[in-house]
Amino acid sequence: MSKPMVVAIDGPSGSGKSSTSRGVADRLHLAYLDTGAMYRAMTWALLRQGVDLDDPDAIAAAAVGVRLTSGTDPLDPTIHADGADVAGPIRSDDVTASVSLVAAVPGVREMLVGMQRETIGNHEGIVVEGRDIGSTVAPDARVKIYLVADPSARAARRAAENGSVDSAATQQALARRDEFDSTRSVSPLTKPDGAIVVDSTHLTLNEVIDTIVGLVDAAR
Ligand code: C5P
Repeated sequence: MSKPMVVAIDGPSGSGKSSTSRGVADRLHLAYLDTGAMYRAMTWALLRQGVDLDDPDAIAAAAVGVRLTSGTDPLDPTIHADGADVAGPIRSDDVTASVSLVAAVPGVREMLVGMQRETIGNHEGIVVEGRDIGSTVAPDARVKIYLVADPSARAARRAAENGSVDSAATQQALARRDEFDSTRSVSPLTKPDGAIVVDSTHLTLNEVIDTIVGLVDAAR
């Protein structure tokens, strides 16, 4: 039996990772895992419990008791925390503002990386999106992509997704989160060794998907 096809797609917020990853998985009939949704769901659960997110020890202690479940259908990705469907709430401003704090806690990362590796191991082929997939979660992934775009393009996309008109404010918020994610001590956002950089600034979603599908086909 050939080795599983693992496609790792990393990159900063707003580079088009989610739409691209789902599109690639759908086109190639692969499963899909959104690891950002897992960090967001963990953050939602800790906020609901009233955990002090400025206290990494409190975060690590509370995280152990949170049960996360991720569905892997690219056409219907689901995420549950302690049995609750949190697909909507994890996109709230509260969660977005706090998720980097939770994702910087080593105990949380250890736990979620373990779950992510288990999910990857349960599939013959899977597209996994995040910040540390090619570097830490699946360094042996068959294809590693680092998806980037100019900050203004990223902010414009994110603002459109959120129905916001203030793309300058969105650009500032994205820059803050990227800075935090890129400078944390555990698994910072960085281009993984062996990753191919795809710049989506001047490409349509379909063009980005075509590019990555071509790279995956070439790696089979
Ligand atoms: O991709 P998304 O914006 O949903 O990710 C939310 C946050 O989760 C990121 O800003 C980052 O702090 C964290 N994250 C991470 N490692 C991953 C995926 C997401 O630290 N593999």
